[in-house]
Amino acid sequence: MDQRPQGCFSVKLAYRSIQEIPTSDARGVNWQKVWKLRIHERLKMMLWRVSSNLLPTMDNLEQRMGIADTVCVCCNGEKESVVQLFFQCAMTRAIWFGSNCYYRSELLNINSCEDFVKVVSGDLDFLEHAPLRIAITLEARWNLRNQILHNKELKVNLVSVIGNMELMILEHIRSKKGDGKNHL
Ligand SMILES: [Zn+2]
Repeated sequence: MDQRPQGCFSVKLAYRSIQEIPTSDARGVNWQKVWKLRIHERLKMMLWRVSSNLLPTMDNLEQRMGIADTVCVCCNGEKESVVQLFFQCAMTRAIWFGSNCYYRSELLNINSCEDFVKVVSGDLDFLEHAPLRIAITLEARWNLRNQILHNKELKVNLVSVIGNMELMILEHIRSKKGDGKNHL
């Protein structure tokens, strides 16, 4: 059985998630605040998909499709899940700490999707441009994970990954300033 995630799986989930986007949810989270963030719609979707555990991570594929190999492809360590991949994996921690904010992802203290929801819907003043930085980091991390998944021989250049991430953050900040909107 081909154990690679199927493209249609995530597209279908993303489509469903768009239809189901609430203004608040059972966890008492006011999603309006997240939808009003002044970041690209694509990045809001990334926050939403991580918060709602909608990405085809290995643990989700195990549950839905019965795949057997669920180990994180980036560190060959623990079972891949949203929390493990985006906040606990050694490669993720290196990306966070290697970025211009020198942040330690463990400081976010995220052990469940609910914890992440609290972070994105809370006061994001612990980090400059926090929503933008978090969303772009998650997106870059997911893209890198997919590259490694599909090319096990890939030589990962974290300096380049982080450099591209910082460039993207700068571009978003500049484009918003160009709009006369200097608050992200
Ligand atoms: Zn890992």
